[in-house]
Amino acid sequence: MLRVCSTNVTMGTSVQQEYNDASLLTLASVPVSIRMKSGVVTLDRTGFEDGGWLRFMPAENCAISEGLMKRDWRSLRERLVNLRTDDGDAVIGWLGAAGYVPFEMLEKPESMVFSRKDVENMSSRDLGWREEFLTPAIRQRVQTFRDVFAWLIGLNGEQFRNAIGLAKEYGEIRNELHQTRVRAMECGKNPRLKDPAREFIKEVKAPSHLDPETLGLALRGTGTSEVMRGKFSWDSSGSPHVVAEVDSPMAAVCISIHLDRNFSSRGWVQCVRCSKWLDKVRGRDRFCSSRCRNYVTTTARRGKIRLLKQAAQQWEKLTPKSQSGLDRWQWIAEWVTRKSKSEAEVEANWVMRELTKIESR
Ligand SMILES: [Zn+2]
Repeated sequence: MLRVCSTNVTMGTSVQQEYNDASLLTLASVPVSIRMKSGVVTLDRTGFEDGGWLRFMPAENCAISEGLMKRDWRSLRERLVNLRTDDGDAVIGWLGAAGYVPFEMLEKPESMVFSRKDVENMSSRDLGWREEFLTPAIRQRVQTFRDVFAWLIGLNGEQFRNAIGLAKEYGEIRNELHQTRVRAMECGKNPRLKDPAREFIKEVKAPSHLDPETLGLALRGTGTSEVMRGKFSWDSSGSPHVVAEVDSPMAAVCISIHLDRNFSSRGWVQCVRCSKWLDKVRGRDRFCSSRCRNYVTTTARRGKIRLLKQAAQQWEKLTPKSQSGLDRWQWIAEWVTRKSKSEAEVEANWVMRELTKIESR
């Protein structure tokens, strides 16, 4: 795509005022994409992200960059919310796929360019991650975001917007509180002030283990920053396009949630069998995989057959007098339906077919 013209906009709740003033047009069907300028970001032992620092890939190595360009933030989000953080290999795999580079691996941490050795390490596996780089702090950070994002995707559009309002309020109260503390300290006082974080978590009806800072920032901004830059552009054929520019993989995942929850409405469901979260792309997805679907179908069928055999035994126990005038298949069908509490709606035809099969064995 040849970019003819582009202009920068700023996104996030902190700039609400600006766009309220200048609403000219609402554009439907404008594609929005997410771009991480640097492609990768380093993560140090303490879980600190080197967000503003752009490190470049040596020109001769395009394979890594090409892989990063193809990142699908929705599927990375799905992997993250289902990630088991006690599984080191899984965490490392996710960090590498998302575009995190272990800071500790770098040959020259102060350099603007990755060294040949760095690139070699990054190409070998998961952008250079090894078990020893995965500190408890990094694991904790991944888990904090995982829990916040997993909770957010389960909200409906109205709940999500309501939560944004509460997060905005929480941010303001927290800032005021901070200023009050500073003023009090200047006067040599130590005021006892109520913690707004707990209040926020309660009001927003989030589980108490969620980190209020991360949750607030994820709702007001990108999870790692209060604001984000966006680029509004059009190509040579005049088609408009919006690019959200993020400087962190976590921010990209967070923005993908805003796009699905707030800018549009995509559904999220939990797999009926294993409760894994899944993006409900097709209208009737209830299972994460055909394995889970087959399992549930097979189990349901086995349960029905078991009830059918019991029903047949019950029928045999009836006296000939009670049986007279009753249709055997119909009686059994009703018995199975009743016993399964209507979960298995069974018909006489099915009973006849299945029971004939069983009895002829
Ligand atoms: Zn499943």
